Amino acid sequence: MNIKNFIQETRYYLKLEGFARPFKKFLLYQSPLSRIVNSRLYGAIYLKRIKKEAERITPKILQIETTNACNAKCLMCPHKTMKRKISVMGLENFKKILDNVMKNYDIKRLTINGFGEPFTDKGVIEKIKYVNKKYPKLKVDIYSNAALLTKKRADELLKTNLGRVTFSINGIEEDYNKVMGLDYENTKRNVLYFLKNNKEKRKPALTNISMMILKENEEKAQNFVNFWRKYSDSVRAYFPSDWAGTLKEYVGEQNIPYGRRQWTCSALWTHIVIHSKGEFVVCCRDYESRVKFGNLIKGDDIKKLRESKAFKELQKQHLNFDFSSPVCKNCDHAYDSSIEWWLW
Ligand code: SF4
Repeated sequence: MNIKNFIQETRYYLKLEGFARPFKKFLLYQSPLSRIVNSRLYGAIYLKRIKKEAERITPKILQIETTNACNAKCLMCPHKTMKRKISVMGLENFKKILDNVMKNYDIKRLTINGFGEPFTDKGVIEKIKYVNKKYPKLKVDIYSNAALLTKKRADELLKTNLGRVTFSINGIEEDYNKVMGLDYENTKRNVLYFLKNNKEKRKPALTNISMMILKENEEKAQNFVNFWRKYSDSVRAYFPSDWAGTLKEYVGEQNIPYGRRQWTCSALWTHIVIHSKGEFVVCCRDYESRVKFGNLIKGDDIKKLRESKAFKELQKQHLNFDFSSPVCKNCDHAYDSSIEWWLW
């Protein structure tokens, strides 16, 4: 990363999360301190810490998947093999889920999509408007490939109050078309239109452009960063997830600063993920809804589900370093899990 990128990314993080979290993240990931992770001393302090934190922490981040439909065909995404039925969540069900979670927890951020492209849901902007009106302090984040973000839709979206918009653009020009099965020129036009008009807003959303690095697009990764950083608050290029062990193909070498060891996953305490049919699932990696604990559309209460024997048992397993649950056992998020506990 050159100095310009570094300054740009620092600014972005300061706006997104304030000073403490990015600073701690930098110390634990990038500085020589990262070498102590996995040491015996670290393990002893870490365990004490998470047991204490696990008593205290309540969920802060909610993800509601408004649809699991997607218009792209990304090489590194298991969406094409997903067996879960495609569905779009109606506005009333969305309200029911959101209101139930907000009544029970002090949620700070809502991600309004999951394992799908949010603009395949024609009602997604209505949902954002509802959140803005009913929960004005709740930060709304959205991730999109922008291929369906026409001018008309972008204008409507720009009238809402978004915390952060991330556009997934996996490559440039013909590399992009190959990786995502979409048209680069169309996406570029849509994204540039949104970014330009967003900047002119009194309270612009924070913007991020992300690219997953594959052998098909890595040669031009630097061109990608150089082009998009002129327009967006942040530009990231990183290696894809293997989706809890389900996708070995296309997953490149990962730059992990210490040996792989699975740690108690903080996501089970800090995140709530609801799929498009209302299922409360273990986390965003569970794209098939394999480990589910109940259904908020069918009338379950999130607090009761999180206090249920099954959910508590999963948390207990993690605290005892037992990762035998079907999704967790192959999860590549595991190497981040240790650090995450120090950031909340
Ligand atoms: S270990 Fe992986 S699959 Fe399990 S809860 Fe954490 S992120 Fe999800």
